[in-house]
Amino acid sequence: MSLREIMNTEIEQECNVCGATNVIAQSDLAAGTAMDGQVDARVIRLPPCESCGAAEFLIRSAADEPEHPSPGSFGHLHRLLVDVLYSRPMSSQQFAVGIADKDAAGKEVTAGEIEQWFGNGLRLTRAGDGDVIGPLEDESAEAQEEQQ
Ligand SMILES: [Zn+2]
Repeated sequence: MSLREIMNTEIEQECNVCGATNVIAQSDLAAGTAMDGQVDARVIRLPPCESCGAAEFLIRSAADEPEHPSPGSFGHLHRLLVDVLYSRPMSSQQFAVGIADKDAAGKEVTAGEIEQWFGNGLRLTRAGDGDVIGPLEDESAEAQEEQQ
């Protein structure tokens, strides 16, 4: 899972499985999903990859999420992007049934943070395009991080 850029009405996503770049309308995203009978409000479900069909999810931070241990790392910036995306109106409008409003709020990304880290736009430069800025986190690594 890798969110690359948030545009006005679309996002750019790089498939973690086949590496294809998909442009997805934000109106096609849904916040919250039911897995194993449990509704999880933190998840943004992406449509299947156009190339390989892989289904991916983005998981936003909890409202009380501690600061990222590596400011400026790919993992940190990616987390901020996901949280920004989650705060977009599309999220609350398309909530999966059963999610209470109080569970809908995630961690707010401040204007100052956006200015500090995304002064040139809401996009990520991939490690490998130039300097390696950190390992690409996969979902399992992120899940472990959240449990700590
Ligand atoms: Zn793919």
